[in-house]
Amino acid sequence: MQPRVLPTDPHDKLGVRRVINVAGNMTSLGASIAKPEVIEAVADILPHFVEIDDLQRRASQAIAKATGAEAGCVTACASAGVSISVAGAMTGANLAAIEALPDTAGLRDTVIVQLGHLCHYSAPIDQAVRLTGARLRTIGSVNEARPDQLAAALDENVAAMLFVVSHQTMQHGQIPLSECVRICRTANVPVIVDAAAEMDLSGFLSDGADIAIYSAHKALGGMTGGIVAGKTPLVRAAYLQNAGIGRGMKVGKEGIAGTIAALDAWAKRDRDAEWAAQQHTLTLWREAVAPYNAIKTQLVDDPTDNPIQRLRLAFQGDSNAAATFAARLAQGDPPVIVRDEFLDRNCFELDPCNLHPGEAEIVAERLQQEAESAGEAGAGGQTLTELRQASLARRLAWPD
Ligand SMILES: *Cc1c(COP(=O)(O)O)cnc(C)c1O
Repeated sequence: MQPRVLPTDPHDKLGVRRVINVAGNMTSLGASIAKPEVIEAVADILPHFVEIDDLQRRASQAIAKATGAEAGCVTACASAGVSISVAGAMTGANLAAIEALPDTAGLRDTVIVQLGHLCHYSAPIDQAVRLTGARLRTIGSVNEARPDQLAAALDENVAAMLFVVSHQTMQHGQIPLSECVRICRTANVPVIVDAAAEMDLSGFLSDGADIAIYSAHKALGGMTGGIVAGKTPLVRAAYLQNAGIGRGMKVGKEGIAGTIAALDAWAKRDRDAEWAAQQHTLTLWREAVAPYNAIKTQLVDDPTDNPIQRLRLAFQGDSNAAATFAARLAQGDPPVIVRDEFLDRNCFELDPCNLHPGEAEIVAERLQQEAESAGEAGAGGQTLTELRQASLARRLAWPD
């Protein structure tokens, strides 16, 4: 059966700009293109009543099948998954303790994390832990954490260790997951892995993680949602937070049904075809800027080994060139939003994973246009710092 695809483009009706996303699965842009199977499942469930615990039981089976976990549940997002997993590690299935959070009196309430893992995904990850009432105990320095530091940190107050897998964390000098698991097992401390943006749905659990957390709306192309997968008692304790601090992180029937559909669709996706399409797009973009000496291009592998490559554009000369170029792409028609975490190193990246038909070609044209006019005063001649300040000021003035 062919999935139904919604035929209309809602931007005009809503009065918002259409943007081309070459940044990646970014929350600020609407995360990813939802798969047709997901859209269909969401539309099908929305008008109906369903017993949510039963639907979550069905989700648990789908998550178990996709990840190899004993059990799983769906929550509002990966960030919520971190919070309810940490809360569950403190309270277990004790309803009174669940209702008492963030008061943790009488509970083990310390969460260990390597300092180099404390990233910011448009919100600081430590806050997702702290809002449960848990205290964070960091180990190591940004660029070095050691097994002996972890072992020394495991006292009777420790409820869990949080391990973060992300391009945003420090990529070297950290204790590997399997070593964290080995050490934490000796103290009976569960290891919770935040793998929000990862495409490996089974590897962290098979490496011994007690819980692995994924975003439903990133690589899976689902509804906004989060997946908590792992050992049954810990997943149950995380799920029961819906009667406590998890209430404000509630997922509805549409998020649960959409996530089940995304997991089913994931199993059927043609990875080879997706890779080939990415490579085609990257070549197109690379050729578009090849004639311009001030721009050096490089294909870069994903830092956490997802099967994704991106095109890095590194600019010679003027230290504001990358920021100016990116700002001009974002201000153009249509706006093209790039992956901008390396602007201070005078480069940015183009991610090929979220394009509608025809958009790769539009991006290639826009690249060529901007490369042609590079050197002209762009973006008001502002420095990267000024551009960032202006962008922050715009956010702080919302809704103006
Ligand atoms: C994106 C991301 C999150 C947040 O995911 P949401 O599902 O949007 O809450 C958390 N952790 C990491 C490592 C991420 O990359």
